[in-house]
Amino acid sequence: MMNQKCIEWQFSGSEAAKEAAAASLGTYTSELYAMCDPNGKPILPPRSESPETSPAAEKAVVKAVLCGTGNAYAPSIGLPVAKRAVAEYLNQNLPKKLTADDVFMTVGCKQAIELAVDILAKPKANVLLPRPGFPWDVVRSIYKHLEVRYYDFIPEKDFEIDFDSVRKMVDKNTFAIFIINPHNPNGNTYSECHLKQLAELAKELSIMVVSDEVYRWTVFGSNPFVPMGKFSSIVPVVTLGSISKGWSVPGWRTGWLALHDLDGVFKSTKILQAAKEFLEINSKPPTVIQAAIPDILERTPKEFFDKRGSFLKDKVDFGYSKLKHIPNLTCYMKPEACTFLWTELDLSCFVSIEDDQDFCKKLAMEENLVVLPGIAFSQKNWLRHSIDMDTPTLEDAFERLKSFCERHSITGEASLKNVNGVN
Ligand SMILES: *Cc1c(COP(=O)(O)O)cnc(C)c1O
Repeated sequence: MMNQKCIEWQFSGSEAAKEAAAASLGTYTSELYAMCDPNGKPILPPRSESPETSPAAEKAVVKAVLCGTGNAYAPSIGLPVAKRAVAEYLNQNLPKKLTADDVFMTVGCKQAIELAVDILAKPKANVLLPRPGFPWDVVRSIYKHLEVRYYDFIPEKDFEIDFDSVRKMVDKNTFAIFIINPHNPNGNTYSECHLKQLAELAKELSIMVVSDEVYRWTVFGSNPFVPMGKFSSIVPVVTLGSISKGWSVPGWRTGWLALHDLDGVFKSTKILQAAKEFLEINSKPPTVIQAAIPDILERTPKEFFDKRGSFLKDKVDFGYSKLKHIPNLTCYMKPEACTFLWTELDLSCFVSIEDDQDFCKKLAMEENLVVLPGIAFSQKNWLRHSIDMDTPTLEDAFERLKSFCERHSITGEASLKNVNGVN
C-alpha cells in the first residue's frame, strides 16, 4: 500500500462560509456550552429540553402521514394547500389580501431570510439590519458579500426604532430595511403607529420593508401584535414567518415568505421570478409538514397560545424581579414577547472582565450557566438571558448569575442604582 503521507490530495475544504459561520448564533452557543463542566452543577439552560409542543400540530402531522398527502415531492415553491393556508391565515389582519401565489414555503424562517437576501442582493448593494438583531440576516449577508449597515433602537423609549439612524444609513444602493417584530432579543412589539411611520419613511427612501414575524404567536404584553403587511398599500413589504417558535417545533423546519405587492412592483422588478428560481435550486421543507400546515394554522386552539403566553409572562416577571438584585446589569424594558431578557452590562463596575464575551465565558466556566453575549446579536456589551424554563430552574440560574456578578464586581461599589432601568 502506498504511504498516505506521500499523496498530495487534490481536494480541500472550501473556506467560503468561514467568515459567515463565525457570526452565527450556533457558533457562540456551542462554544459556551463546551466551556461548561459536564461533571459540575447541572448545565443551564438545559439544552435538550424543549417546551411543550402543540397537540393539534402533532395530530395534523399524524393525519398527513396516515392520509399519505405529504409523501410525494412538493413543487419547489411549496405545496398549494400550504401556500393557500398561509395566505388565508395572514389575510386575517390585512386590508390588502394575499393570494396563494404570493406565498413561498421555505425551510424554516431561516431559509425565508436567505431567500429575501439572495433574491434582492446585487453587486454593490447594501442592506439595513437591526442592531441588535437575530444573526441569520447578518450571516447570510456576509456569505453573499452584501454590505451590512445597522440601524439602532432607543432603549429609553421601549426599544422603538431610531428613525434618525435609519435615515443616516440609507443611500442609493440600499434596497431594504429588515425588521424583527416581535423583536428578538429586545422583546418588544411595535405599535401600529410606529409601523405606519416606518412604512412612510421607507417609501420616502424608496426601500422595501422585510419583516421577520416568527415570534408573532409568543406575545404576552399589553401591546398587541400588528403585521407589517398592513401597510403594504404604502410600501412593498415582505413577510417572513414559520411555525418554529409559535408551536415550539423548530425541528420541523417549515416556514414561508409572503410578498405583499404594491402596484405590481414585485413583478416588474422581477422579484417574483427570482424567488421561484431561487427555490428551484434549493432544498424544500418536508412535504409532510407542509401538508399539515392548513390544520396547524386553522385548528390550533387559542388556549394553546394563551397558556404558553401566560407561562412566559410569569417567567419574565420572575426573571425581571431577580435582576433588580443583581449589580451592574440594566434591563430597560420588561419584555412583552419572545423568551428572553435583554440587559446592558456596565463593564466599568467589574474587575477583570474584558467585555460581554469574556463575561459569558467566565460565567460558563465558573457557574455552568450559558448566557449569550450581545456581540452575537451585533451589540457589544449586552447580554441575552433565556427565561423559557420552569421556575425552580430559572431561580437557580439567576442565583448563579447573582453570585457571579457579586464576585466580580468592584468591592463596595457594586451598584444597584440603575438596575431597574426606567420603569
Ligand atoms: C428563531 C428565529 C428565526 C429562525 O426560525 P426557523 O423557523 O427556526 O428557521 C428567525 N428569526 C428570528 C428572529 C428568530 O428568533
